[in-house]
Amino acid sequence: MRTFIRGGRLIDPSQSLDRVADLVIVDGQIEAVQSPDATGPAALDASSDHAIDARDCLVMAGGIDVHTHIGGGKVALARLLLQDLTDGPESEFLPSPTVAAQRYLQMGYTSCFEPAVLPCNARAAHAEMALAHGLDTGGYCLLGNDDLLLQMIGDGVPQVMVNDYVAAMVAATQCIAVKVVNPGGINAFKYNVRDLDVDTPHPRYGVTPSEIIRTLCRAVYEIGLPHPLHVHCSNLGVPGNIASTIKTIEAADGLPIHLTHVQFHCYGDEGPYGMSSAAQQLVRAMQKHPNVTVDVGQIMFGQTVTISGDTAHQFANHRHAKPRKSALVDIECEAGCGVVPFRYRRRQFVHSLQWAIGLELFLMIDDPERVFLTTDHPNGAPFTSYPHLIRLLADHSFRETALAEIHTDAAAASDLSGLDRQYTINELVAMTRVGPSKILGLGDTGTLRPGAPADVVVYPQRSTWDQTFAQAKYVLKSGRCIAGTDVPSTGSGRPQVSTAAESLHRTHRVDLSLDKSAWKSIVRRYPAAGSSSLGRLAISDDEMRTQLGSTLVNHAPRPRQR
Ligand SMILES: [Zn+2]
Repeated sequence: MRTFIRGGRLIDPSQSLDRVADLVIVDGQIEAVQSPDATGPAALDASSDHAIDARDCLVMAGGIDVHTHIGGGKVALARLLLQDLTDGPESEFLPSPTVAAQRYLQMGYTSCFEPAVLPCNARAAHAEMALAHGLDTGGYCLLGNDDLLLQMIGDGVPQVMVNDYVAAMVAATQCIAVKVVNPGGINAFKYNVRDLDVDTPHPRYGVTPSEIIRTLCRAVYEIGLPHPLHVHCSNLGVPGNIASTIKTIEAADGLPIHLTHVQFHCYGDEGPYGMSSAAQQLVRAMQKHPNVTVDVGQIMFGQTVTISGDTAHQFANHRHAKPRKSALVDIECEAGCGVVPFRYRRRQFVHSLQWAIGLELFLMIDDPERVFLTTDHPNGAPFTSYPHLIRLLADHSFRETALAEIHTDAAAASDLSGLDRQYTINELVAMTRVGPSKILGLGDTGTLRPGAPADVVVYPQRSTWDQTFAQAKYVLKSGRCIAGTDVPSTGSGRPQVSTAAESLHRTHRVDLSLDKSAWKSIVRRYPAAGSSSLGRLAISDDEMRTQLGSTLVNHAPRPRQR
């Protein structure tokens, strides 16, 4: 099938493309970019099965969210806990996966990655994500508080054994990357330790968070995962935590490392409130360490819910719950998590400063392929606030108006008023498409290059950036038009998402084949250290296809390093 997107402004910073042209799509892939007056078979409107009028529109690849909690045990638990606060599956900050997918597609996002897939919960996480009809998804396997890994590092086993374990867990859980949350700190909580700083030894295994980071960064690099170790640092939300964030960067020893929701890890302890912005320190550290990428985890004012595997932090946080209820579950097991509803308020100094720090980071980090647009959905805000956030970044006067409304002491303590940068459309596309694809190793996804999968969005150019990015006119997935204001509704009560979306779900994973002998030895060792038997954990390709209803998209690892 041939589709012809006519006369839009095509934007793809990966090939310095920014001009009015026609985009030709054949059989689910981008075929060519043609000048509007080009002749030749591909340019002939008449030869197309489907033609889309994109005049006065922006045309770009579908958005990619590198960190959003849309599936898995703790999201389901949060929905259960907050039934009275949310409006069922349609909730603003806890939508069902199907509704989340509809909203992402309406905003022009086509791929989303769930960053906290606990190995013993991976099957449920994939089953839930498979209900995100029309979206591509993928998961990051959560390691770094599992007893076997801590024991191996503490015992000083050779790196190659750790590598085999990490590779086996990623393959068994059908994941694309590895994430660590509060390295060792969640496990230490079980031994009556309430915070574990980067150089503090674990009370049982003697290993420090710094050693866990170093070992896992190396494992991820050596087994060839494209995405660097995805790190939720120690001491989330604690004033002065910039010191542990910088030590975490140094622990990577120059290997690639990605710091997630870094706004929550970027605090000094100066000033009358004992909390200050450390954005400049982090930016300087990123200049010194080109191996570091970050996503921000911007907060927005309003009601949301925090859901995290960082049980130690959620235990400390639960007294701030709004409304006053929370759940900390399975702490003794490896799938422990905490759910704490939360309301960010403008009139609170801390919340206002958090808002300002997030924006400082976006605006101070020059390279849009090293900083990614996230709210750590739903922890900082629901993902549906992205259009508003984009306008804050791209419209200086809008940002100034918003800054005038926050707590005055927080505004005075922030450098935000001195930052007049406005993101350009090319920078926005780099931050939400090209950069995320590169950092996840998704090949040509996120670009409009010939041969790339035709995940393409057509946005109408409206008078403000938030209006432009709130609702796409057309969203194409693998060349099929599945959402958008100009795509006819199905009459099923689901606005602007076609039934074609329902047949499309794909899971991105790295094609690390499960090494049978390494797996057998891990299964044997695991019961002595872990809290469950591993024998049932591995999810086969066939199960993904036939039971969970998802097509696997394989990405090749880099060659193994030794
Ligand atoms: Zn998160």
